[in-house]
Amino acid sequence: MRTYCPNCAALIERRIPEGQDRERDICSACGEIFYDNPRNVVGTIVERDGAVLMCRRAISPRRYFWTVPAGFLELGESAFEGAARETLEEATAEVQNGELFAMLDVIHIGQIHIFYRTRLISDHWAPGAESDAVCFLKEDEIDWSQLAFPSIHRALTHYFNDRRRGHFEPHMEKLFRDSWETLGLDLEPR
Ligand SMILES: [Zn+2]
Repeated sequence: MRTYCPNCAALIERRIPEGQDRERDICSACGEIFYDNPRNVVGTIVERDGAVLMCRRAISPRRYFWTVPAGFLELGESAFEGAARETLEEATAEVQNGELFAMLDVIHIGQIHIFYRTRLISDHWAPGAESDAVCFLKEDEIDWSQLAFPSIHRALTHYFNDRRRGHFEPHMEKLFRDSWETLGLDLEPR
C-alpha cells in the first residue's frame, strides 16, 4: 500500500480509474496510476545422477525447511538468468542452460513460480549466505513434509514423476491457500 506519490509527494487515493474495472492506487494531485501485478519467483531443479540439488533455508520465512534454489526475479535479467543467479547465491552452484519445467500460479499471494531443469557446469556446490546445508537428494531421501513451500513440493513431484516415466514435459498448475494442508507440509521444522 502506497501513502504518498513518489513523483509529487501528494496523497495516494484508492479508486477505479476511468475506463477500468478495478481499484488502483492513484495520485490525488498528478493523477499517476500505480499498478500492482504478480511477482515472479524463479528457481532451478538441478539434476545429477537421479538426485536434485536441495538447500536448507537459513533465513525467514520457513527457516530450516528445504527448498530448491529459488527467489524473486530482478529487473534486468531473464527468468532463467534469475534462476541461475539464485542457484549461485543459495547453493554456490553454476548452471548455464535451463529447460522450462513448471509454471505454478500462486494467485492468493500474487506470485508466479517458474522452475527450470538444468545441470551443473562445474563440480561445485556449497551453502550460500541464505542456506545452512546444500546437497543432492534422491526422491526417497527428501523429507517431503519438511519442504519450504507448496510450489517446491509440486515442482519436485512433477520432476520425479516425469523422471520415472522417462519423459519430461512442462507443467502448468494453480496452487491455492489450502495447498499447505493438502500437501501435508509441516508448520514447524524438525
Ligand atoms: Zn503525484
